[in-house]
Amino acid sequence: MLPPPNFSYDADTKYVLNVKFHIVYENEENPVFPDEIIVNSQQVNQFGEAEIMEILKDMNVTFNPHNIFFKYKGFDVSYNSDVTNGLQNGSSISSLGVTDNNAYNIYFVNYTHIGSAYATQGNTRAVFSFSTMSDIIRVQVLGHELGHCFNLLHVFNNYNSSQCEHVTRDVNSPLYNANVAGDFVHDTPAQSFQSWFNGCEYIYNPNSTDCTGEPYVDVVPANYLGYDSDSTCGYHFTTGQAVRMRTHLQNPPMPHILQTFNTIESLYEPFEIIPYAGTIIRSVTDNNDGTAEVCRNTLLRHRFQKSFDYVFTNVNPSDPTFATINDLPEIINTTYTFGVQINQVDPTITNDFFVDCNRQPFCQIEDFVQGRVISTKVLGSMNLTLEELNEIQVKDPELYDKLMSEYYHIITKETESGAIKQTVIYKE
Ligand SMILES: [Zn+2]
Repeated sequence: MLPPPNFSYDADTKYVLNVKFHIVYENEENPVFPDEIIVNSQQVNQFGEAEIMEILKDMNVTFNPHNIFFKYKGFDVSYNSDVTNGLQNGSSISSLGVTDNNAYNIYFVNYTHIGSAYATQGNTRAVFSFSTMSDIIRVQVLGHELGHCFNLLHVFNNYNSSQCEHVTRDVNSPLYNANVAGDFVHDTPAQSFQSWFNGCEYIYNPNSTDCTGEPYVDVVPANYLGYDSDSTCGYHFTTGQAVRMRTHLQNPPMPHILQTFNTIESLYEPFEIIPYAGTIIRSVTDNNDGTAEVCRNTLLRHRFQKSFDYVFTNVNPSDPTFATINDLPEIINTTYTFGVQINQVDPTITNDFFVDCNRQPFCQIEDFVQGRVISTKVLGSMNLTLEELNEIQVKDPELYDKLMSEYYHIITKETESGAIKQTVIYKE
């Protein structure tokens, strides 16, 4: 498909696209892969956040140089034997199961119905067999299928048809058709389905020709949209392919593509904020059933997606001040607005992230585990009796009834985390 005749193009626009991952296993009892898969040098048999983040990183590293960024929107796990074994044609959205209309949807399955991975041309979803996410081919396969999502065609497209892309790059030649044939990209040479290379140099073969009989020349290995798999030559998109991808995003042919767009600012925001208990105890309430409600100050875990070189400014000294693309940084002790820089977006810009300090206390139910009772006839007297309470005694609902009458009692109960509830009573 050609760009619309009057398309607009801006090389500097940054596209931020939401991405949601969907893991499809056969069934709940046996949620494992059929093959051995290595992700980040570790053999894995299930995908979790660590593996998904590694995949997200590779997507960003591949596309960020072309001003295309992926904003993580989480992952889900579902169970469908037909889908994960490729028995269902995944060409319609509903047949793949869960879809987020506001994101690019990346599915992971055991097998697909056509090959090991596919994407719908110019659309917002791609399906990968788990095995393609192994370290050695992951980068290539992600670049290839997402390239299709951004409207790229194979560099050898139509090579064996009478409508083939001609070898000539001379725009004044009557044979010139590189912009309207093949992959519609001028700077990817016309080429066959398979080419031969000596190192990274194309091996000229007078018998390997376009459909007019002109031998192919200057074919470059390791284009993401080719099929050769020698990563030593450096996987790449050409400038013309980058223009075609960005033209697609700038002039989306289907309205739902616009729904996947996010703001540049969103990249500076954590993908997840999890409240957790700080160390300051605000209150301990005896539930009189062997437990206490312990309320502490609330802190927030700000979790930032893998993919970028971050600099964090104005953070608590115990929080990180920078992170690399391989980190999954968390700002956990900062209770005030801090700054975030992302080198891949713009190393000169710092965005403030506002931390709300008006928070409800963080309350949890905890078991009492020990305690003691100090008893005395007269408060302030040195004449005391001390009874240590073990876990059974401190939870005893008849603890009060068993105390001596006409005595003051200082009852101290301690929870599993060390929170203390102290009560002073006078028993009549
Ligand atoms: Zn393809």
